[in-house]
Amino acid sequence: MLRKAGKVVKDKELTETLAEILTTRGIGLINEAQKKLQESRKGLTRLIESQVDKGVKCLKEAKDLGSKRGAENYERAKGLVEQAKSGLFGLDPEIAGLINQAQKAAEGSRWDEAIRLMKKARDKAPEAGREALDKMLAQFYNARGVQMLNTATEKLNDMAQSRQKMIGTLVDLFLEGKSVPGFGTKPKKKKWKAVMVVAGIVLLVIVMLAGGEEGQKALGQLILLALIMIGVPIVQALKSTLNPFSSNPGSGLPRCRLCRESASYRFDLPGKGEVSLCSTHSDELRKIIEFEPRPDDLTARLIVASFKDFGQASTLDPQAEVFDKNRRSASEIIDRFHLWQNNDNAAKYWT
Ligand SMILES: [Zn+2]
Repeated sequence: MLRKAGKVVKDKELTETLAEILTTRGIGLINEAQKKLQESRKGLTRLIESQVDKGVKCLKEAKDLGSKRGAENYERAKGLVEQAKSGLFGLDPEIAGLINQAQKAAEGSRWDEAIRLMKKARDKAPEAGREALDKMLAQFYNARGVQMLNTATEKLNDMAQSRQKMIGTLVDLFLEGKSVPGFGTKPKKKKWKAVMVVAGIVLLVIVMLAGGEEGQKALGQLILLALIMIGVPIVQALKSTLNPFSSNPGSGLPRCRLCRESASYRFDLPGKGEVSLCSTHSDELRKIIEFEPRPDDLTARLIVASFKDFGQASTLDPQAEVFDKNRRSASEIIDRFHLWQNNDNAAKYWT
């Protein structure tokens, strides 16, 4: 009646009264639905949903009629509808508080805290609300995994760059067969050792320059870095271009660039052209380039931990493909650096 009258008369007072009535009715419906939902434990039933819809409609009308109270409650009710659809409507205030705190921690990228709080909320939540909380928890695990994997990847990139520089230095020294100042000219067989000494010194200088903290660390770290720096890019270039000479009677075999013995292999080195080496020197060069690079302990731990987090995320929310995709990326890096648990050296990263 009032509604019709309002439309016909356009009387301001009458409109306000109508808006008031609609607001009050809307709030009543929503509150009642909320109470029912708290008691139902079955989540959002159709009956409750239709009651919520009615309440929302009343508030929308009140809002359109210019009611401020109507507009405020309409926004609140819309939020409740979203919660209801996600199974979080009418949650216990304690659980709602935990979720709220968890979301704040997530906004600040404090993922450990966000995960801890959300797990707590999830354990206390009724069955109906679990799925929605699992999805949020999955997001948090994934975000933490991404954060860790990014940090690890930055470190790996730094290592790859240092390694590339070192390869250049080592290969230069090796090919020049240079004697090391202070060591005198060594016999052929000792050349490789001299190269390693120089490499060690160069490494030490690089490590010292790279950062005081790193520079302070002991010999073990130095050796580890040496292993890391020697490596992959040139290995790959070489593996594809390493050509053993076929026996080629008629033409004289080329000589080893380092010792003048007859050459057994020809290397096509990036930036250095073709280099022929005898089998002894070929083996030595191959040793330089075939070392397995390894990330440091912290980086290895981050990679493994990110893999675990992506696993958690995809278990909690199997439909979200991105979690599984991230898990595969982490798994590829674990493969590359042999960090699986069944590897004696790497088992410690999994605890
Ligand atoms: Zn040689």
